[in-house]
Amino acid sequence: MKLGWGAEEEAFRAELAAFVDEYAPPEARAWGHERSQEGGDLRPDWAQAWQATLFDHGWMIPSYPPELGGRDATPLQTLVYLEEMARLDIPRSLHFTSYGIAAPSLLEFGDARQRDLAVAAIRGDRVWCIGMSEPDAGSDLAALSTRAVLDHDRFVVNGQKVWTSYAMVSDWCLCFVRTDPDARKHRGISALLIELDTPGVEVRPLRQITGSAEFAEVYFTDAVVPAENLLGPLHDGWRISTGSLAHERAGIWIESVVRAEHAVGRLIDLARRLGRDRDPVVRRRLAELSELTSSLRALGYKGAAGYGGSGPAPEHSSMKLATSELWLDLMAFGIELQGASGAVTDPERSADARWPIDLLAGFGGTLAGGTSEIQRNVIAQRVLGLPRARP
Ligand SMILES: Cc1cc2nc3c(=O)[nH]c(=O)nc-3n(C[C@H](O)[C@H](O)[C@H](O)COP(=O)(O)OP(=O)(O)OC[C@H]3O[C@@H](n4cnc5c(N)ncnc54)[C@H](O)[C@@H]3O)c2cc1C
Repeated sequence: MKLGWGAEEEAFRAELAAFVDEYAPPEARAWGHERSQEGGDLRPDWAQAWQATLFDHGWMIPSYPPELGGRDATPLQTLVYLEEMARLDIPRSLHFTSYGIAAPSLLEFGDARQRDLAVAAIRGDRVWCIGMSEPDAGSDLAALSTRAVLDHDRFVVNGQKVWTSYAMVSDWCLCFVRTDPDARKHRGISALLIELDTPGVEVRPLRQITGSAEFAEVYFTDAVVPAENLLGPLHDGWRISTGSLAHERAGIWIESVVRAEHAVGRLIDLARRLGRDRDPVVRRRLAELSELTSSLRALGYKGAAGYGGSGPAPEHSSMKLATSELWLDLMAFGIELQGASGAVTDPERSADARWPIDLLAGFGGTLAGGTSEIQRNVIAQRVLGLPRARP
């Protein structure tokens, strides 16, 4: 049995490490700590310049061709890339929505002009947000009601989106709207490309429990959008909403697993620092968390080895569910280890405020991209073969 990467993958990893060593700005190296701090610039110049550098050297999305910021990497090389970037704890972009959702959608469903927009999204020159969720449409996305009425060569849009990540720093929104209110709910949806400086579009940031504001409400009041900004066929937006995430989704688990491994390392350091590393209860819990994290890495590799499709796979649901819930356990143990001061989020008054802030932020991970309950439904039906629950 062979456990480990081959020489070719290791050479690829070494090439990436050398590139990062030479080009990564100090802010990117410090990002692992910075992202836990309250507030902060959501579109800093260093991040945009770093993303452009990655793009220009073919390291932004390695599986893409050079003109799209890649180097035609194989799926295995892509996994090595994601693993190494996570190990170094260096972000390639601060806006997953741009390069991971909007760009693949534009490339897969867009006409020539729309595909051109993908280049700027991947390079970080333009930032995109994704307008899916609404106050009455989250898990049941097909219930969305933001209305777009086609009037000759333009759509007139009215309605509201919510939880729209990075909307306040975005140039564009890939927005899902209802274009046929009489059709069955999955059928009457379309995808529109909306410039956020369009008159009638208002972005209101939402402050989170962590203190930062990374997402917003977006209101549309008679916003006029050129008909040529329709992505894909009219009323066919449901296919776009589900179809274009596959390649990125297939590898995201490794970033979550490596992040959990980093956290286990931090927990062990914390236990040592606090003189709790000889406590048998603490040692047993650390061993359990470490074992769980290693098992998830093995499970992720197994899923990746078997994954050959292009749509979301049930394995992705298992990994998303397990890693987001494990994160909460890891952060909660960090708080517990510190005793009463562990829950203090004010860095001035806490030895390490990252634990409670990362715990609070971690709840978002159990919601975004499909809640834990929805992942359990997928696993129940598609992995275990159980019938759908009665409403
Ligand atoms: C950090 C973060 C970033 C986000 N970014 C974006 C973004 O950029 N763009 C965007 O459009 N949206 C975004 N979202 C929104 C996200 O997609 C929704 O929060 C998610 O789909 C859940 O929808 P909801 O919040 O309306 O909860 P609801 O769907 O109302 O669910 C409420 C509760 O009921 C449960 N539930 C619902 N349906 C079922 C069911 N069938 N079976 C069992 N339980 C069920 C849910 O699990 C949940 O616990 C983001 C969310 C977070 C946390």
